[in-house]
Amino acid sequence: MQSISPEIIFRGNYAWQKSLPQITKLTKSPLILGRGIQTNNLRNNIFNDLKNQKLNVNSANLQFDCCYEDISRVKNIISNNNNDCVIAAGGGKVLDSGKYIADSLNIPCITVPLSASTCAGWTALSNIYTKDGQFIKDVALGSCPKILVFDHKFIQTAPSRTLASGIADALAKWYESSITSSKIDDGLVQQAIQISRVLRDQLLIDGGKAFKGQFENHPSWQNTVEACGLTAGLVGGIGGEKCRTAAAHAIHNAITQIITPNKFLHGEIVGVGLLLQLRLEEMKNNNKLADQSIKQLFVLMKELNLPTTIGQLGINVFENNNLEKIADFTCRDKSEIHFLPFEINKRDIIEVISNFEQQKIKT
Ligand SMILES: [Zn+2]
Repeated sequence: MQSISPEIIFRGNYAWQKSLPQITKLTKSPLILGRGIQTNNLRNNIFNDLKNQKLNVNSANLQFDCCYEDISRVKNIISNNNNDCVIAAGGGKVLDSGKYIADSLNIPCITVPLSASTCAGWTALSNIYTKDGQFIKDVALGSCPKILVFDHKFIQTAPSRTLASGIADALAKWYESSITSSKIDDGLVQQAIQISRVLRDQLLIDGGKAFKGQFENHPSWQNTVEACGLTAGLVGGIGGEKCRTAAAHAIHNAITQIITPNKFLHGEIVGVGLLLQLRLEEMKNNNKLADQSIKQLFVLMKELNLPTTIGQLGINVFENNNLEKIADFTCRDKSEIHFLPFEINKRDIIEVISNFEQQKIKT
């Protein structure tokens, strides 16, 4: 079974208002799930709009991440209130929690992304973390959300940092799926990989412009936010589980194991993982184009103000055994790193990271 996309998608300016008749058909008593205070106003508007539709609405906020503590607390709130639907309004962690909770209670989920930081509003997947943000695992859900509301007016209110993070995460689709899955003899997987290549090209062309022109209704901005929030999800939907992630996400998951005072966004960490993946490909797979790809990505990442080393994520890999810890988690049995078409061991990871952290990329 494969769930390719949400059943209904509303997109563009005022998509939220346009979605209300459909939402009222689906639910009489929704729970709005959110998190940060920065998005409180938006969620209050969503709450009031639903109240005006005579729905019996209540709300809950995550205290931490998409973690089991928050998930079970919110599930209790839903059982006590008899909610018949979860409306997850926020970034990737909120969307992932909302989808997971709805799936486990067998009620529909409506996703309302409030930034373009991930494609979590689209996919039938939730990443589970500890309370402190350490990656535990990803869970495949029964289906994509029932309704996805991708309202550009909402997305415009998000900090530009979230857009940069979404661009890095969406760029990884091509570099990861093309190396893990290009030999798979399945037409849909091949087509998903090609969509991810077009997606990358579009982000290389429009990403920088979109980052600068976020305040406007600029076509580059619209294309870029939809590329990150929608097309990246479509690639995952069509490609299914065969269209896999690889080193960029495996290294992301390992980096999250080290708890730091300042938290970084998913895509910000994936971007660093992506540069490291390309170095691994150069070292272990004789990929002669890897260096060129690194330089190309590096220029865009600098333009987007994205971190490009683990040091810039607030972690000194040469202290506290951090390098060993990252290499251990990257190479654990269940890691996506083993989807690479060549063998990787701990020593390779240590070598590639220590060289990388000390080098200067010349563009
Ligand atoms: Zn990702």
